[in-house]
Amino acid sequence: MGDLLSIEEARARVLERVRTLPSERIPLEAASGRVLAEDARASVDLPPFPSSAMDGFAVRAEDTPGRLPIVARIAAGRPAGRELAPGEAMGIATGGLVPEGADSVVPIEATVVHEDNVVEVPDGVDWGAHVRPRGKDAAAGAVVVEAGTRLGATQLGALAAAGVGEVTVARRPRAVVLTTGTELRTPGEPLGPGEIYEANGLVLGAQLASAGAEVERLAPVEDTEGAHRDAIARGLEADVLVTSGGVSVGPHDLVRRVEAELGVEEVFWRVAVKPGKPTAFGVRDSTLVFGLPGNPVSSLVTFELFVRPAIEALQGAADPGPRFHRGTLGTSARRGADRDELARATARSTPEGAVVDLLSGQESHMIARAARANALVLIPAGDGVLEAGTAVDYLELR
Ligand code: AMP
Ligand code: MG
Repeated sequence: MGDLLSIEEARARVLERVRTLPSERIPLEAASGRVLAEDARASVDLPPFPSSAMDGFAVRAEDTPGRLPIVARIAAGRPAGRELAPGEAMGIATGGLVPEGADSVVPIEATVVHEDNVVEVPDGVDWGAHVRPRGKDAAAGAVVVEAGTRLGATQLGALAAAGVGEVTVARRPRAVVLTTGTELRTPGEPLGPGEIYEANGLVLGAQLASAGAEVERLAPVEDTEGAHRDAIARGLEADVLVTSGGVSVGPHDLVRRVEAELGVEEVFWRVAVKPGKPTAFGVRDSTLVFGLPGNPVSSLVTFELFVRPAIEALQGAADPGPRFHRGTLGTSARRGADRDELARATARSTPEGAVVDLLSGQESHMIARAARANALVLIPAGDGVLEAGTAVDYLELR
């Protein structure tokens, strides 16, 4: 099988063809899951003012221990409006603005409040205690989230807190999904002889959406050139066309031939991976064209290896993946002689790290068995067996 590309070579050939999409300005409110095209900087110091970390009293450390008159009550968003003079205390809530003149906050639990509006601080307070200095989290103008980062909940929170109302992100890739096969029926319809339910369209649509693409799913096409031609021509208008089925060597495998007729330059066909050997990749103008094999597990696996990284790279992601994790085999695994294998597995965390157990039923049509998997374990090609306890790389399935 020396003519087959390795997974890494195939991935590299895909990424070579990817050009990051143009960027756009969008409200932060709409930016969940998008990839930053430019560094996003704090528009204010964070915190924007010295703020109290506790409910208590703002004081001067040098006035403690002591008995201090309470001259104001400060709430979050309600500053005192004046400085603290020597010998005074001001009640202050968490998040309240520590007034000029005060340098420390003594927590309420460390005080005794007397009837006559006097607070007794029995112990000396450290200078700066329980005050969050202005700009300590991020100074105005500092980079809060770097270009190439996908905005998850944490990053959105950071940017909102830093006053960033708009971000510059790559445009979302437009992806078309086309499934091929005369035998395919929609779930819920009755099956005729020789027919099966169409599964890959839904899977690929979900995978593409989770990678950040805008997805259009075309109706499945039967295995005729005419039906293929119209649908593929439509898909070639998108940034990415992902087809399923019809890339093997049978007489009904029409995808590559029709794509060639429509001007697709094939970059590779066939990869040393199990499942997924007949995977094809080509380009037409700026459209990336993936031909994934029809067996549902092959489609699922090759998407993760080749399509997801391309969708990430189109959005300018700093690390397009696939992102492998390290674990150890909980069960032994037979190696394939010629092809690296991505085996379906359950990953579990143990005190010694992640352990991955291969599922029974590893054939490429066994999508029902794969439903229990949360990981794809890389079993490198070679002789013999990997024993339980061997270190392996795995991808998370979400
Ligand atoms: P192909 O790659 O077209 O030769 O298809 C390989 C196997 O996958 C065949 O058994 C097909 O019936 C099956 N298959 C193809 N497309 C789909 C699909 N969209 N959903 C479920 N199974 C499929
Ligand atoms: Mg087919």
